[in-house]
Amino acid sequence: MKNLALHWQILIGMVLGVLFGYLMTNFEWGKALVQDWVKPFGTIFINALKLIAVPLILASLIKGVSDLKDISKLSKMGGKTIMIYILTTVIAVSIGLVLVNVIRPGDSISEKTRKDLVENYADNTQKYKEEAKNQKESGPLQALVDLVPSNIIGAAGSNKNMLQVIFFAIFFGIGMILIPEEKSTPVKAFFDGFNEVILKMIDLIMLTAPFGVFTLLAALVAEAPSADLFKALGWYAFTVILGLMTMIVIYMGLVYFFTGKSPKFFLNGISPAQLLAFSTSSSAATLPVTMERVTEHLGVEEEVSSFVLPIGATINMDGTSLYQAVAAIFIAEAFGMDLTFGVQLGIIATATLASIGSAAVPGAGMVMLVIVLAQAGIPEAGLALIFAIDRPLDMLRTTVNVTGDATVSMLIAKSEGMLHEPQVKNWDDNYKK
Ligand code: ASP
Repeated sequence: MKNLALHWQILIGMVLGVLFGYLMTNFEWGKALVQDWVKPFGTIFINALKLIAVPLILASLIKGVSDLKDISKLSKMGGKTIMIYILTTVIAVSIGLVLVNVIRPGDSISEKTRKDLVENYADNTQKYKEEAKNQKESGPLQALVDLVPSNIIGAAGSNKNMLQVIFFAIFFGIGMILIPEEKSTPVKAFFDGFNEVILKMIDLIMLTAPFGVFTLLAALVAEAPSADLFKALGWYAFTVILGLMTMIVIYMGLVYFFTGKSPKFFLNGISPAQLLAFSTSSSAATLPVTMERVTEHLGVEEEVSSFVLPIGATINMDGTSLYQAVAAIFIAEAFGMDLTFGVQLGIIATATLASIGSAAVPGAGMVMLVIVLAQAGIPEAGLALIFAIDRPLDMLRTTVNVTGDATVSMLIAKSEGMLHEPQVKNWDDNYKK
């Protein structure tokens, strides 16, 4: 096992986890055993990853920004990053809309299945609606206000405030650029070293990744609802998955076209992060590994990756936006509504904004879907229709979200002349030390 590349080890862990979880569903005591003795290790694994996120953003972003030496370079890179992020998101939503209009998965839902699903999941729907309502009640500039924390310790105190931490780190980095070099050098040396330590901690956590994903997937399978529901939603799931796979192909094409790097190179480099995104359903929890893979295995210089990736993890969610578009139209179809072209165009805008507003945690895309539904006049009770199958789709869309961030970081690095041969020649050298 030791000599096997990390992504294979993780994959084996995932397969064994699914098999073990499935096996346990055959015993009366199986589910409880998994919940009491296996799932906690998965929680520890995710917690360890999340633990790294805030210090990593602080250290790497401060280092990255201060390395730029020049503020105009920062604003140029910032503008480009946001523009490409929005562009890829709009492409994703549009692909989702085309597919859902061609496949029309909502037509295959019978009246009875629809009623059953709405009744079964009515309670959960209520919870999501309330969460979304809290977000909606604030004014139009609230997102901007939320960007600037009034207290950095408070901001760093919750992983939900990642954008605030990013704001502080960039601001701090700009301060460093503007003071005389002899004053900033020791500060920079500190954050340099700090950053190295954090990267080493990620390596250590990744040593346990095969076991971590085993526990996560075993718990997921043992706790999954009955397979019958999945069947009813088969066409809907197929549409989302087809869209997500199209996005992965588009990413590989973009990377090849703009950087000349082959799909094999790209996937070899990023796959551990993808597998982790799949297992944790959280771009935020995956961020430390995404940063490490992109920097050390795809050859993106840290000045770029430390800037582009944390921002991407919080605002760039192509998979989520695609899913929101498909889900919204699917629900409308299932309720027998025909949406006009204008309403569908509106969905492009709301799904793009809703995905930007979604937190990088499991299930967040579904909370924000409430807002997309409300804007388009689609019954919010429809959330209940897609609830049963949301988790597996969340795992897949998170994988796409993370892959999208990695792609954009490579494009930006190339355009800034900051894409090089990766430092780690043998893919898994740094895990074996
Ligand atoms: N789980 C996704 C993420 O962290 C967000 C979503 O629910 O779509 O990227």
